[in-house]
Amino acid sequence: MASIAFETALEDISGIAPRYLTAFKRLNIKTVRDLLYHFPSRYEDYSHVYRIAELEPGQDATIQGEIYEVTGRKTWRRTYYVTEAVITDGEDSIRAVWWNQPYLRNTLRHGARVNISGKVSVNERGELFFSNPAFEFIHAHEEAHDATHTARIVPIYRETHGLTSKGIRYILRPILENVDVEEFLPEAVLEREGFPTLRPALHAVHFPDELAETEAAKRRFAFEDLFLLELTNARERARLSKESALSVPFPAARRKKIISSLPFALTDSQAHALDEILEDIAKPHPMNRLLQGDVGSGKTIVAGIAAMAAGEAKYQTAIMAPTEILAYQHYETFKKFFSDFAGGIALLTGSAARIFLGEGLERETKKAELHSAIRAGRISIVIGTHALIEKKVTLPHLALVVIDEQHRFGVEQRAALMREDAVPHFLSMSATPIPRTLALTIFGNLNVSQITELPKDRKEIITKVVAPENRLKAYAFIKEFVEKGRQAFVICPRIIPSNIEPGGMLDAATLARLDMKNVTEEYEKLSKKIFPDLSVAMLHRKLKPKEKASVMKAFSDGKIDILVSTSVIEVGVDVPNATIMMVESAERFGLAQLYQFRGRVGRGAHQSFCLLFTESTSEATQKRLEAVARAKNGFELAEEDLKLRGPGEFLGTIQTGMPDIAMKALQHPTLIPKARSAAGELLKKGGDYCLSPLLQNKLVAFKKQIHWE
Ligand code: ADP
Ligand code: MG
Repeated sequence: MASIAFETALEDISGIAPRYLTAFKRLNIKTVRDLLYHFPSRYEDYSHVYRIAELEPGQDATIQGEIYEVTGRKTWRRTYYVTEAVITDGEDSIRAVWWNQPYLRNTLRHGARVNISGKVSVNERGELFFSNPAFEFIHAHEEAHDATHTARIVPIYRETHGLTSKGIRYILRPILENVDVEEFLPEAVLEREGFPTLRPALHAVHFPDELAETEAAKRRFAFEDLFLLELTNARERARLSKESALSVPFPAARRKKIISSLPFALTDSQAHALDEILEDIAKPHPMNRLLQGDVGSGKTIVAGIAAMAAGEAKYQTAIMAPTEILAYQHYETFKKFFSDFAGGIALLTGSAARIFLGEGLERETKKAELHSAIRAGRISIVIGTHALIEKKVTLPHLALVVIDEQHRFGVEQRAALMREDAVPHFLSMSATPIPRTLALTIFGNLNVSQITELPKDRKEIITKVVAPENRLKAYAFIKEFVEKGRQAFVICPRIIPSNIEPGGMLDAATLARLDMKNVTEEYEKLSKKIFPDLSVAMLHRKLKPKEKASVMKAFSDGKIDILVSTSVIEVGVDVPNATIMMVESAERFGLAQLYQFRGRVGRGAHQSFCLLFTESTSEATQKRLEAVARAKNGFELAEEDLKLRGPGEFLGTIQTGMPDIAMKALQHPTLIPKARSAAGELLKKGGDYCLSPLLQNKLVAFKKQIHWE
């Protein structure tokens, strides 16, 4: 094999069959780097070589010997093909049996020396044999530990159809032996932490001689990711501090006037967050800030006041929401709170274009017309969805970009809104309760403001895990509240019922799927049988945007009593009169998601309830659901979830947009500060000039893997 670089595409390596390339693509493995960083999910220890006489039934073991008999035949019903070989180690012999691999008949040759690794089975006559073991020929010049698939600690990988761990090992090993490896971590760090250098680390993680080696290697790889992450963040900070931005003044008197025009007083942490934001955007350098706060903590109004500051300075603000429903709701909020603002507030989504020019002056408009109004600077605040980042939208006076529920947007979208002469201030808002240490790592390029309390008028939401036998009682409870004028959500994990394919397997996972509640059937049941006198509607992502918006509007206007929905309402939706949140098959949702659902209620003056339904009796499920019931705020729940599941799982389900490897890296929390100081040390030596070309390339590659925002 010729020498190979990390960036080499697997297709450019001769000898990998196209069907394997296809299978690798399914695992998202395209380059040599991807392959070498596809770490084993576990190992099987076949390193000890037994004598045949020592074998015991049920054991996983390796033997070494010579093949002296090979036979192949169909079973009597001709459904299986069986290949059998007898192997001797000079003293004893044992049979090995392979099913449905007829080609083995010609591969396993009399007289060949092999390693056999696998489970020792026993037949009805009490004879030991290997069933479908791994085997590997031993060549005369090789030592036993050079084996790849047997007689060693064998790596087991995440597999895919048509690509087994054996296949992966078979392709990976020669590449690993021949790849050009250049160390890119600073020498001082390697020394200080006692990390193995890159080549030995790759060896240790794929083909360890001892399991202990894999731990040190994994720590090194975790550090790699954290180091690249910290370096990326630190450079981003440094870069932005040199960019210029429009400075947004906001005289204290104006500020006071706007705040006093609101129907409520800001909470202390809202006021504090607002101070931080206004102070940032008054500077001639771009702000890069994350505003974190529980669902319902009132982030919108804080962003809104900042947008007003920009508007009064004759600058523009773009506010992006992840869904049309949310964009519409923000628009309504702005109209309500800033009703006498005549600087132009617009809504722009895939299906809607509206302009509001102050009290009573609102109209629907053609998109093209709205585009030109924005371009002419006649609109100060544009609220919308992805529609905002189309080429046709140009904001010549853009000072501030606000992105709600930020992880749904990519870096490209943000870049698309950037102006050439000045970088806009950037405010990202998230209800995802990431514990502070993790937030500082993941979003280390951002400053963080946190809203830690809910508005004082909020009552605690009464949360209960409901057992199946109490279902009818729960329905009666809902009916009572709806008749008093309140509204309810019913959330289901699926849109339509789950099917079993004809002849399909009825395994535990399938059964669990069949049990999952779906919007379509629940809607039928609730509207026809349970609440025939009430107004019930459904909402899910398969509805057309117009239908969705009209259902949502009818619900906001109180014309719908019960809304049966999938998780499309997960983020943001605000209907203060909705006081009951009922979640079906609650075990199917992550804690953070359940917490978000719960935040849909408890937004008005009435007592609210969250009812978590589950058919599952598992103790783990009960524990998780009760954690939601107990949680006082999102950060508290985050800590709990973190404890129950570890950072990888926890963060995985709330989609921070981070790559898996960086998630795994966070499982080594002690490495975080070390990575940060190593990155700082390196940059202090002289900014980007001190980065080797190799490290610069690494950073470029790393950035491509991360699409946070
Ligand atoms: P989130 O942080 O989840 O985006 P919102 O901005 O949607 O929360 O606010 C939730 C509700 O609370 C809205 O109806 C909003 O008008 C209201 N609200 C915001 N701040 C306060 C406050 N300080 N006092 C009372 N209600 C508030
Ligand atoms: Mg919100």
